[in-house]
Amino acid sequence: MQLQKPSYQKRLFPNFRWPAGKRCAVAIGWHVDGESGPIAGDPRNAHHLAALSEGAYGVSTALPRLLDLHHELAIPASFFIPGYVAELHPEAVVQVARAGHEVAHHGYLHENVFLLDEAEERDVFERGSQILEGLTGARPVGWSAPGWGLRLSTVERLIEMGMLYDSSLMEYDTPYLLETPRGSLVELPISLILDDWEIFGGSLFPNGGGVNAPVEHAYQIWRDEFDGLRFYGGLFTTTFHPNILGRPSRIRMLHRLFSYMKSFDDVWLATYAEIAAYVRAQAEEIA
Ligand code: ZN
Repeated sequence: MQLQKPSYQKRLFPNFRWPAGKRCAVAIGWHVDGESGPIAGDPRNAHHLAALSEGAYGVSTALPRLLDLHHELAIPASFFIPGYVAELHPEAVVQVARAGHEVAHHGYLHENVFLLDEAEERDVFERGSQILEGLTGARPVGWSAPGWGLRLSTVERLIEMGMLYDSSLMEYDTPYLLETPRGSLVELPISLILDDWEIFGGSLFPNGGGVNAPVEHAYQIWRDEFDGLRFYGGLFTTTFHPNILGRPSRIRMLHRLFSYMKSFDDVWLATYAEIAAYVRAQAEEIA
């Protein structure tokens, strides 16, 4: 088989600078997978009440507490919400938007695009956008890939839809641009070290079981990674799941972590959309 080289270009910013006085940025991303997580993992879970309830905990029980945490510490966040979850919990989506946070795109049923053809992919994106827009009054401007499924047609679809950013790739730890023949998209890179699934993940069905790491373990890894990113001037983006990290002990740990990060006045705490808009403006200035 003849392997082709990737047909997009990366445009990096060699002397990337954060806004005046800031040496790094923190964007807290919540992946509100809810009931869509178990179903996307295995369609049989659509009838598995316990599996659905495990996902729903993140919306029904954890989300209000997380909104309180962000409010108390005045830390903005971005909530990536599948359309299906928004349909099941419309009031939760309205509460997130009303609290001033970003509501961002995360598919309809948490689809991995590699299981879809391009027409289905277009349908999923449009459906997810319309549902979120119907609840918040604004079209989402950013996307993070369920299951980290992202291909060139996905990048082009996001550009066609007028999206500002993607947040799914891992080659760098500062923002950059993905350039395609159809235009460009800001990339706000993620990393698995800041993904709660890596520490606490698990699923009820079909394999069963989860990982019950002590919260101190996560606190140490994430605080140290924050210190490192602050040293190098990077972007701290998280893949946090309310059903996993929204357990009471873990929310209290997050309170300590967020308070620590907030104790530095050279850290820019912002939503993904705010950071992407800043990067886009920088790109135009440099061009
Ligand atoms: Zn997700």
